[in-house]
Amino acid sequence: MSNETDPAMTKGTRRGLLIILSSPSGAGKSTLARRLMEWDDSLSFSVSATTRPARPGERDGVDYHFVDHETFRQMIARGEMLEHAEVFGNFYGSPKGPVEAAINDGRDVLFDIDWQGGQQIAGSSLRDAVVSIFILPPSIAELERRLNARGQDPAQVIRARMEKSRAEISHWAEYDYVLINDDLNETETRLRAILTAERLKRIRQPGLVEHVRRLNAEYEELMK
Ligand code: ADP
Ligand code: 5GP
Repeated sequence: MSNETDPAMTKGTRRGLLIILSSPSGAGKSTLARRLMEWDDSLSFSVSATTRPARPGERDGVDYHFVDHETFRQMIARGEMLEHAEVFGNFYGSPKGPVEAAINDGRDVLFDIDWQGGQQIAGSSLRDAVVSIFILPPSIAELERRLNARGQDPAQVIRARMEKSRAEISHWAEYDYVLINDDLNETETRLRAILTAERLKRIRQPGLVEHVRRLNAEYEELMK
């Protein structure tokens, strides 16, 4: 849709973006998501619902909505999930309501979800607003080191995540952007650059039509 025909653009408002971060567990996407949120407090984080138990330090309603299987099933049945998937034997899903409220209000929403969720959102009616970013670890040895260093999962959970990491990585080419998270500060800088550039796309700049109209009015005045 061009700026001229999108009513939101001519009104000077825009719908928010859906920024999807995926990676194998341990590559650093939660850390990067946190840093992006600190950089730009207008970003809204999509707090997923999950049936997995909370890790030490995780807060209900902040990191996740921790729910039981029955509650999760009901949320799906009521059509309240934008996407949902089974990951590592637990269910995860992105509640639709807060996302719609944020993007209709012009706020960009950050998702920390797996490739299955990324595919579902990229295939939904919201696809034009999706910016998807895949985070790769610098090496598999470093991925394992980070999973251990996080120190929050029992050994067999870490083993299972390592075993699944290859399958998650196999989806890298489905994403708009791919970052190798070697140096954390460097990756954060690149993420900021992606977000800044995506927001500057012509079709996403509110008020451009109006601005150019004013420039043209100035020409008319000057040529009188
Ligand atoms: P994910 O959300 O992808 O599972 P986390 O963000 O929890 O991963 O990161 C896993 C661990 O690796 C954390 O202890 C985090 O501090 C650390 N970490 C993340 N990025 C880097 C990096 N670039 N260099 C070193 N350690 C990192
Ligand atoms: P963790 O248990 O480490 O927090 O997350 C495990 C995996 O589930 C990660 O790859 C994370 O991105 C993914 N995940 C978290 N929330 C959601 C969600 O709402 N939907 C989907 N599809 N995946 C999610």
